[in-house]
Amino acid sequence: MNYMRKYIFVFGLFFLFLFRISFNYNSLPVSNETNYPYIKTDKISIIKGTEDIKQFIEVISVHDYDVEVDMSGVDIHKKGVYKANVIAKNKVSSSSKIIDVEVLDKIVYLTFDDGPSYNTQFILDILKIYNVKATFFVTGENYQYKQLIQDAYKQGHTIGLHAYSHDYETLYTSENGYFDDLNKIRQYVKSVTGYDSKFIRFPGGSSNTISKKYCHGIMKRLTKSVQNRGYEYFDWNISSGDAEASTVSASSIIEKATTIPSYSQDYIILLFHDSSNKTTTVDALPSIIEYYLDKGYTFMPIDKTSYIYHQPVLN
Ligand code: ZN
Repeated sequence: MNYMRKYIFVFGLFFLFLFRISFNYNSLPVSNETNYPYIKTDKISIIKGTEDIKQFIEVISVHDYDVEVDMSGVDIHKKGVYKANVIAKNKVSSSSKIIDVEVLDKIVYLTFDDGPSYNTQFILDILKIYNVKATFFVTGENYQYKQLIQDAYKQGHTIGLHAYSHDYETLYTSENGYFDDLNKIRQYVKSVTGYDSKFIRFPGGSSNTISKKYCHGIMKRLTKSVQNRGYEYFDWNISSGDAEASTVSASSIIEKATTIPSYSQDYIILLFHDSSNKTTTVDALPSIIEYYLDKGYTFMPIDKTSYIYHQPVLN
């Protein structure tokens, strides 16, 4: 009888132990995840004058949630790193976190259209050396280089949508034609990177007049409808001129890319191309990066916090 009791006691302890393990293992993390709004953001970088930063705060919560940010300690008009208190609330619980808010001025957004190609690898290498992030508005052509889209994404660059085909007639004959192509490049980027990009660069820019040949007024309609569908489009305020001929001299690219317009000295969106014949763009890039670093600019990839520049729509 004594032995029996002893066995029951030992088995009892053993089951209690198992129960505790399963309790700890299953219940606690799940209940945390379910109830508690988790503020993921540690730091955000914004351009001067950005008042609403709520939209940039990432929160993980299974319930709907609200975010409040106490910006009283942030001077949004002055460059610097500040602290802000973020409060996230859902119907069950709330959480708060102090995050860093970096207010930036003098930003350069390097943008490369028409790639990927053989040259993209060299551009990625240069960007890595200078620890600079950029944006690639890619096409679906040259799929043999699609690995470079994935590499660029993994290295922290933004992948934007240029066009799948880059054929003006396909793109600009009708709104449906444009969106069919846009959807194709969006799915392509998603399949290569897993990233669902909503950043657009119109082939020819939003101010292009070549589209007049195919459909009168289409750019007026497209510039509105892309935004209604949740995209944002980015033109450039400096062109490196690397598309003015098949191959432009590196010195001319440097000259144009470093001529800062008087109307936008703080925020520069710089247009390059990384298609297969743009070898001199690669040659010119280090000098251009050094020029802006010397002048105290920060290089940023395009994201939700970016400065947006739209050219006047001419069709
Ligand atoms: Zn293009």
